[in-house]
Amino acid sequence: MNAVKKAAPLPAYFRRRMNMESLLASRRVLRLVYEKGPLTQAEAAHALDLSQGACNLHFQRLEYEGLVHGQRLEPEGRGRPRFRWELSRPQNATIGLVCDPPHLFVQMEDFAGQKLFSQETNLKGCRDHTQVAEKMCSLVQRAVTAAQERDLRLRYAFAALPGVLDPNSGAVRRAVNFPALDGLDVQALLREKFNLPAHANGLGVAYYYGEAADIPAHHTALVIYWDLGLGLVFGRNRQTLTVQGGDRHGRILSELGHISIAADGPRCHCGQRGCLEAYAGGWVLLQRFAKSGVQTLEDLAQLATAGKNGVDAALQEVTRLLGRNLACALQMFGVTVVRVTGPLAPVFARGQAAFVEGLAEVIGAERAATIQVAVSQDVSDRLLRGATRAARRAFIYPDEFARLSRVSSTLQGQLLAGG
Ligand SMILES: [Zn+2]
Repeated sequence: MNAVKKAAPLPAYFRRRMNMESLLASRRVLRLVYEKGPLTQAEAAHALDLSQGACNLHFQRLEYEGLVHGQRLEPEGRGRPRFRWELSRPQNATIGLVCDPPHLFVQMEDFAGQKLFSQETNLKGCRDHTQVAEKMCSLVQRAVTAAQERDLRLRYAFAALPGVLDPNSGAVRRAVNFPALDGLDVQALLREKFNLPAHANGLGVAYYYGEAADIPAHHTALVIYWDLGLGLVFGRNRQTLTVQGGDRHGRILSELGHISIAADGPRCHCGQRGCLEAYAGGWVLLQRFAKSGVQTLEDLAQLATAGKNGVDAALQEVTRLLGRNLACALQMFGVTVVRVTGPLAPVFARGQAAFVEGLAEVIGAERAATIQVAVSQDVSDRLLRGATRAARRAFIYPDEFARLSRVSSTLQGQLLAGG
């Protein structure tokens, strides 16, 4: 079954006038409507330095594709009819997939950000990637059916995956914590089964897009996803920040959790010693308070709220250490907003002042005070919203995602993917 509707043949006057160049140009018009719409073709023509006739053709083409619709305006004098063009937000949708083993979540939102479908499945018991693929497909099928019932056009899917991904295909090369994912190629799978274009990348992209809508675009932000691990990702202008290293593509700045801050520090899951995560990851706190009966992050949050067993003191120690060790990176990238999200975000608030003090120890109180530190509200489905938004972004701005490398340098600091 196809997720993307088969379009009726194009009218002859389009076929005659369309070529690859106009396809690319239509995308420019689509972006403009997405960013600045609704607008008239005169406004679009002015903004893009195109003739009104050319703009009109692009709008008609985009309307034919179901991406925009025009509202008729009163004509000026005896001129041709005028339209105000707008993105067809409720008629278009994307899917976000988040794999947080053993859980797999699938969510669908329309282009207005309305949540229309959200379900999860448990991958426990899956022995290999074909079994994972089967479960994934049955969940996506439900979303596709929901889209069809609403007469929605599914445009794109984004999959946020753990582990080391193949830099070209996005297939999982190695997921240390859940080996059944090894070999899972979500992009190929969704294209084959549902004719749905997709992009697979690390969880960092979903961390950032989960918060980006609440961060003013011109601010450079650090998003801290505090869970069992420690996810750190930088972004600006609705894009994740990347570094151009020895790789062909930009690598997302999301590996800071595994930089070593002490050569003889505690052993990290990744095999190195002294990673930031080995001090501040949720798993470290769980180990530390296991004797107090703490088994889950929820237990930890409860103890913290009750002010028991020295959890508060531990939290302040950890957040201060984070502040001290992230201060250099915040300076380097000109970060003005720090947003903390993830399951441990609610307890971060208790250590927030210590975090800012940690920053101040390195960059001074005055500069530390210019950085807005905040805990995101309602963290429950941030990751899923992030993945769904990333899919929307990838559909409108495919170039950004084509340049985004999946190369990971974690796991003993070796470049496992990319070779
Ligand atoms: Zn590490």
